[in-house]
Amino acid sequence: MSKNRSEVAPQDKWNVEALFPTLTEWEVEFDRFAPAGSLPQWPELAKFKGRLGESPEILKQALDTLFAISRKLRLLYTYAHLRHDEDITQDANKVAYNKISSIYHQFNEESSWFDPELLALSDATINNMLTSPILADYHFCIEKIVRVKQHMLPEEQEALLAMTGKALQAPQKAFSAISDADFKFGTITDSKGNKKELTHGSYGLYIRDQDRQLREHAFKQLHGKYKEYENTICELLNGQIQSHVFNAKARGYESSLDAALFPKNIDTAVYHSLIKTVNSHLDVLHSYISLREKVMNVGQLHLYDMYVPLISAVDIRLSYKEAEEIIIESVAPLGIYYQNLLAKGLKEQRWVDRFENKNKRSGGYSSGCYDSMPYILMNYKDILRDAFVLAHEAGHSMHSLLSRQNQPYQYSDYPIFLAEVASTFNEDLLMRLMLDRVKTKEERIFLINEKIEDIRGTLFRQTMFAEFELWLHQAAEQNVPLTPKLLNETFKELNQRYFGDRVIIDTEAESEWARIPHFYYDFYVFQYATGISAALALSERVVNGGAAEQEDYLSFLKSGCSRYPIDILQTAGIDMRSPEPVAAAISKFGDLVSKLKQEL
Ligand SMILES: [Zn+2]
Repeated sequence: MSKNRSEVAPQDKWNVEALFPTLTEWEVEFDRFAPAGSLPQWPELAKFKGRLGESPEILKQALDTLFAISRKLRLLYTYAHLRHDEDITQDANKVAYNKISSIYHQFNEESSWFDPELLALSDATINNMLTSPILADYHFCIEKIVRVKQHMLPEEQEALLAMTGKALQAPQKAFSAISDADFKFGTITDSKGNKKELTHGSYGLYIRDQDRQLREHAFKQLHGKYKEYENTICELLNGQIQSHVFNAKARGYESSLDAALFPKNIDTAVYHSLIKTVNSHLDVLHSYISLREKVMNVGQLHLYDMYVPLISAVDIRLSYKEAEEIIIESVAPLGIYYQNLLAKGLKEQRWVDRFENKNKRSGGYSSGCYDSMPYILMNYKDILRDAFVLAHEAGHSMHSLLSRQNQPYQYSDYPIFLAEVASTFNEDLLMRLMLDRVKTKEERIFLINEKIEDIRGTLFRQTMFAEFELWLHQAAEQNVPLTPKLLNETFKELNQRYFGDRVIIDTEAESEWARIPHFYYDFYVFQYATGISAALALSERVVNGGAAEQEDYLSFLKSGCSRYPIDILQTAGIDMRSPEPVAAAISKFGDLVSKLKQEL
């Protein structure tokens, strides 16, 4: 039974007192910052409304004010959300968390005029701002906002578009309602005749189970449910895609893909290059699948045979202290400065809330803000998976720390496109060291297989999804009616192409597309694939390189969002528009498959 929060030893808790000694001090600060009473909450910001174009001085003052409020809000928010997650039943923490959340909402409302007003300025005025030395610290901020100006519509039409927002969310919300709430998947039986309840959560366990009958039943019953409702779900997905097409057309973009990537300045070539490169190396994946077939020795494989570990019952255990040591050791390729910062954070500064306690939030994450140390929430349980979670979150934390140390507040966050690079990079460093250290052959096989599965799920699988998503949008743009039959055929062809001809795609698996929530997110999944590719390409580069490669990588970590993500990765030494990083990741996958073959 886990401890009460009050029984947890101080060295196992994160140092949240470094922010505010107690909740009382936080409340005093909160009331000073956001006193209850008249609106607007921040008249100092409201007074700039309608004045942004007056002069660079005025715009600078307005931006200073905006970011000062945001920075303070983040500090107050960080404390409240950390305390809230320590024990989600504590009433005082809940009240504080709700208070800061609602004031955050208020801030978003009171600052919502800012971007549109900037966008409405004439080109001449904007150019004046973008060249003024007074605004030097904000040039890139302004550039990012005004980037979409050429796709803005006259004010009345913009207002009309904004009004469609809620209505256009209906397909995604309806999908989530049917898939997460309405659908019940019933019970299934394993090979011994035991009845088991099938849910989204238990499916993840059953599909990795050594009991083949359990896997088959879980797979067929879950997907059968989606197949049963494929007409409804097809219409929902169609509705979502049509809303992307509508927005792209209304704003004069060439395509939905263009509309999704242009604001982030990600070249559509990055997307196309990913799909093309993965497709031209599918033989590497096929050779892994045929190795899988040989090892499993159950005849031709079905899709429900794809997730079960090739070697079972290897139980690599690591205590928290052991994990901490090996993680610190594993980052040696990043240099002594990086290594010392991390060691100090984990061991002395108490970044980490280490173990489970009663009512603590589950899972793991990295958090913090510009004016705090990084904070890591863990529920560490002496298993290998948790050591990798800690390495992953520590990668995020170090990225945050170095960005904050080297960038002003407005450039200190990193965008989604970059976020998973630093964390995956550190997982890879840990894997390298673990592979050097393991004692038995079984452990080595287990580790290699884990890594292979990781790359398969993140690189190959997400690229397949990205390819399907692109096809969906292109079909809609060419007025091809999206029917369940067409979607089934297309998805089946993709599965067959990616997994290879020998794999059996059961009828139930044709409607696998109907289960994936990410297709409602508007070109999001490809970033998983580019993220892991960048991370693996970079770790190869750093581990096999010298001081220059190390410096390049550190400069990426220090860049925050001070430039566009593709440009930041370029300084780290990789060009995501070219096929090389993805090809490097696939070649690493190939190496691991060869290693696995040898070991087996
Ligand atoms: Zn992450």
